[in-house]
Amino acid sequence: MSSLAVLHTSQLVTVAGPNRPRIGGEMSDLAIIRDGGMLIRDGKIDIVGSSDAIEKNAGDGEIIDVAGRVVMPGFVDAHAHPVFVGNRLDDFERRAKGETYEQIAAAGGGIWSTVEKTRAANETNLFEQSKTHANWFLKCGTTTVEAKSGYGLTVEDELKILRVIRRLNEETPIEFIPTFLGAHAVPREWRQSEYVDLVINEMLPRVASENLAEFCDVFCEHGYFDVEQSRKILGAAKKLGLRLRIHADQLSNSGGAKLAGELKATTADHLEKTDGQGIGAMKSANVQPVLLPGSVYALGSACYPRAREMIETGLAVVIATDFNPGSSPSPSMPMMLSLACTQMKMSPAEALTASTINAACTLGRGDMIGSLEPGKLANFSTFDCEDYRELAYWFGFSQADSVYVRGERVWSGGLRSSAKN
Ligand SMILES: [Zn+2]
Repeated sequence: MSSLAVLHTSQLVTVAGPNRPRIGGEMSDLAIIRDGGMLIRDGKIDIVGSSDAIEKNAGDGEIIDVAGRVVMPGFVDAHAHPVFVGNRLDDFERRAKGETYEQIAAAGGGIWSTVEKTRAANETNLFEQSKTHANWFLKCGTTTVEAKSGYGLTVEDELKILRVIRRLNEETPIEFIPTFLGAHAVPREWRQSEYVDLVINEMLPRVASENLAEFCDVFCEHGYFDVEQSRKILGAAKKLGLRLRIHADQLSNSGGAKLAGELKATTADHLEKTDGQGIGAMKSANVQPVLLPGSVYALGSACYPRAREMIETGLAVVIATDFNPGSSPSPSMPMMLSLACTQMKMSPAEALTASTINAACTLGRGDMIGSLEPGKLANFSTFDCEDYRELAYWFGFSQADSVYVRGERVWSGGLRSSAKN
């Protein structure tokens, strides 16, 4: 049996606690062990405790002295669109000049430019660019990523994206969890109601029979898929055994959060425009809100979701990147922590809970990842700082030193790491 002892953290941020999403005051309790350590056996955490206690149990296995760094669970990014081709640099520059979404779309930008490039790419090229994105996540300390399709919008192109997600999961250190988002937008060549039928009658059955997704998501918004169409698609997905996530109330308070409550979705995501009624509907159905401050920031908006009200209502809030080429080109969870604290008035501890254990619970993996506790996978990151609050405080660069998945070091870029280990 191979073992690995991790010793001498400044803070071992375990996030240990009840085996369920954390709510209210629980979100502030990170169960930190000063000068803490862990003993890892065969990729799983065996013992968590003081460095002294771990050292005594280490035997002749490998020892890593992290020399006063912060160690915490690998980030779990519960909302991302990492599989696409190209970028949206021209849109970015046009937006900076003050052009509207309509003007940008008329100039050949917007989601269509990404759909066209992604459709044109073969599976190998799509995989290669997406692998680059996977490395970016890793460098920021993220070890699990929910990955949505949605830039194909034909049966074959959506399946192609989901197969690339499967391959990313198999061939990179990150665990990718697939979500089918065929209802991301209505493609130009289809009438809206006919496209909804295509999603329900052709795409969903293929996705389910080929076991290509765990979740189904819909962009529920005026001009995309209204509440009635979203209900139809998600209802069909549920019958096929998929669990549900919803892009809800991003641009308008259009009833997405209420629909999430009605369908008992796992998550409702975005929620920039959700009101008290929507928050109540999520609470009564135990829907977890996934807040995406990166897209608010990158679009130059000031309308952040009502995180404080959600936490005070007792919702198990999640923070994610929404990594995508249009509205949130950032894979950095530390950047999201910064935005959560400065723009949504969450505490650093709440933001950290929201991006680890609470996120893991939305992906059905709360018993395996998201905290550093005996029996869980040894997925963790070390950071070049002494206090976990520094992750949210310093912004614009990554303090990640090393990243481990199942006890194996899968990335190392810290300034001092070559001298250390
Ligand atoms: Zn999204």
